[in-house]
Amino acid sequence: MSTSPVASWLELSERAYATNVATFRAVAGPARVGAVLKGNAYGHGLQETLSLAHGRVDVLYVITPAEAVAIRAWEGQHHRPRSEVLVIGAVSASDCVELARLHVSVVAADRGFADAVPALRAAGLKLDVHVHLDTGLGREGFTRAGLEAGEADFFASAKDVVTVKGALSHFANTEDVTEQDYARTQLNNFEAGVKVLQARAGVEADVERHFAASAAALVLPPSRLDVVRVGISMYGLWPSAETRLSARVVLGALPALEPVLSWKAPSQVVKWLPAGSYVGYGCTYRCASETRVAVLPVGYWDGYPRLASGKAHVLVNGRRCAVIGRVMMNHLIVDVTHATKDDQPVVATLLGRDGEEQVSMETIAGWAQTIHYETMTRLGPHLRRVVVP
Ligand SMILES: *Cc1c(COP(=O)(O)O)cnc(C)c1O
Repeated sequence: MSTSPVASWLELSERAYATNVATFRAVAGPARVGAVLKGNAYGHGLQETLSLAHGRVDVLYVITPAEAVAIRAWEGQHHRPRSEVLVIGAVSASDCVELARLHVSVVAADRGFADAVPALRAAGLKLDVHVHLDTGLGREGFTRAGLEAGEADFFASAKDVVTVKGALSHFANTEDVTEQDYARTQLNNFEAGVKVLQARAGVEADVERHFAASAAALVLPPSRLDVVRVGISMYGLWPSAETRLSARVVLGALPALEPVLSWKAPSQVVKWLPAGSYVGYGCTYRCASETRVAVLPVGYWDGYPRLASGKAHVLVNGRRCAVIGRVMMNHLIVDVTHATKDDQPVVATLLGRDGEEQVSMETIAGWAQTIHYETMTRLGPHLRRVVVP
């Protein structure tokens, strides 16, 4: 009798992660290489991913103050030196005070950031800041009009507590296209915006510039600037098919990206269902012949999309096995008639490689009619995550 829990688990490959870091160092160098750990490290698990990323990359990017606090706590527990950490999401004045104490840098993205200045003075703390410019995404960041109306002028008189270390922006349309015209326009807007910051806000000319996420870092060399902020591709996935196509052209060959994550589930039971049996809620599937099924203790609660019902397969003993009937909250039923010789428990690979076969996150996202960014970040934080060499 096995004593391991009857529950699915995620495996993170340290070798794959190291390969992806090396790929970005080779492709984007001499730019520094940063890793984006938002969204529970794209579903990989913040803690487990820190054990792979910390010390391997130059900067850690997160969205929320809580994620930055968790990184500092992890460093304390593991007796590791402080990494450079930048919160790229929204911060309140009190967040700024707490993050200044932890030596975490934050992004100032709109005029509301001025509220942090008196709070920092009152606390007697200094904060390193990167100024976000909206160059055409329409999301956060000072617009050109806002800069010219003086929205960022307060930085010039806040130098006692705020040091502007960087300027950044984010692309709107790099992974959906193979022509990077819009991105080039955004790059031009960025340089123009930095000039306004220099003239009006007292920002130094040699401020650290960063713009590129995975796609731009791979396919748009002028976007690499001083540091690249690599999210999805540090986990070994291409941002899109278009990016992959462009990379072949721009780089001459496809750089190595290896998926870091696999997802496995033990069966809770393997059994035969007679011909004519119905399977799952709604009786949407009926066995045409006697069918050996494996019931897997994993479902949409864990992040396996219900929209994959009727389309998905998993791998058992190197063979594709159809997911039959609907994906349930805590269960999947798969047809293992030809994948196993007896009724002993099996281990199914929901994501990753088994022998010659592979299920990618792009494939799962396709079944669910969405993108892999979404299916990855929907992986339940409760799942057991194991780092393997
Ligand atoms: C998410 C994000 C990234 C990383 O994007 P990927 O496409 O996953 O590489 C970089 N910068 C900002 C501001 C982001 O929000």
